[in-house]
Amino acid sequence: MSEIIFKPCSLKEMWEEMPNLPESRKYMAGGTDVVTVENAGFPSAECWIDISDIPELAIVREEKDHVFIGAGVKLNDLETYPFIKKYCPALLAAVHDFASPSLRNMATLGGNAGNASPCADGVCALVSLEATIVLRKGNSERKMPLRDFFTGPKRTKLEKDELIYGFEIPKKENLLGQYFKLGPRAFFGISKVAVALSAALDGNKVKYASVAIASVAPVPLYAAKTSEYLTGKELTEDTILKAADMARGEVSPITDARSEADYRRDMSGILLERALRSLTD
Ligand SMILES: Cc1cc2nc3c(=O)[nH]c(=O)nc-3n(C[C@H](O)[C@H](O)[C@H](O)COP(=O)(O)OP(=O)(O)OC[C@H]3O[C@@H](n4cnc5c(N)ncnc54)[C@H](O)[C@@H]3O)c2cc1C
Repeated sequence: MSEIIFKPCSLKEMWEEMPNLPESRKYMAGGTDVVTVENAGFPSAECWIDISDIPELAIVREEKDHVFIGAGVKLNDLETYPFIKKYCPALLAAVHDFASPSLRNMATLGGNAGNASPCADGVCALVSLEATIVLRKGNSERKMPLRDFFTGPKRTKLEKDELIYGFEIPKKENLLGQYFKLGPRAFFGISKVAVALSAALDGNKVKYASVAIASVAPVPLYAAKTSEYLTGKELTEDTILKAADMARGEVSPITDARSEADYRRDMSGILLERALRSLTD
């Protein structure tokens, strides 16, 4: 780990002190990604800005038309908010499949996005929830759909010193959510493929559907065609099978140490089938 760690107690203190810090600086939230990388012998900054004690980043609140989740909120804390359960069911399902309880006590959603891994479970769920990411730098703020934030593996549109402030998730009534993750074992593993589904039904009709898939593209993938196809359809066996085929057509997986491309493609469809069937269970 690098020698200099700066731990501000507020955003005001952080922005004021920023010009005095070494140019090679990076944020650290829960540290579950950055410490692993540093320990593996890949130092990436001279100065770490430890943002884990900044109260503004730990805010979770319900607004009129959206839910706001601060970037520094620990994954385990999400379960304590009834409105997260109501409006972000896919996210809670993903948290259940995320690493281990001890990791979830440290890891943050901001870090999950900042790390920009195509297999990020929290991000995949948030993409299916059509989340907007809120970025801040000093007094300026900008927002964009989370699905547009990533430019490749480990690459984002973040500018130097720009901070992920939080996420806005639009409120949708009667929302159902699922997260189906296929890893090397039942628990505690990075996914070979994972499917997040957010949907609302009117009887057997799909009023709304939004599908995101992890580990099958350079970025967490929003399956736009599949989502569009499902919306407005009767949830029949035929619809489910066609949607699964459509999802297979949208992914562009690679073969790596964790899995093979063809298997990932096929399982994208199978996991979506399971997620869709579970909506009416
Ligand atoms: C054993 C193990 C198991 C894991 N299992 C999973 C898993 O099942 N699913 C999964 O998705 N991930 C998993 N991870 C990866 C990791 O835990 C997550 O990505 C986690 O959400 C990172 O959050 P953090 O707060 O620890 O981020 P950190 O490690 O503190 O930061 C990660 C990156 O984000 C940047 N960053 C952090 N916060 C901000 C911010 N507010 N603004 C701008 N940049 C920021 C940092 O500079 C760094 O580049 C695992 C990691 C380990 C070590």
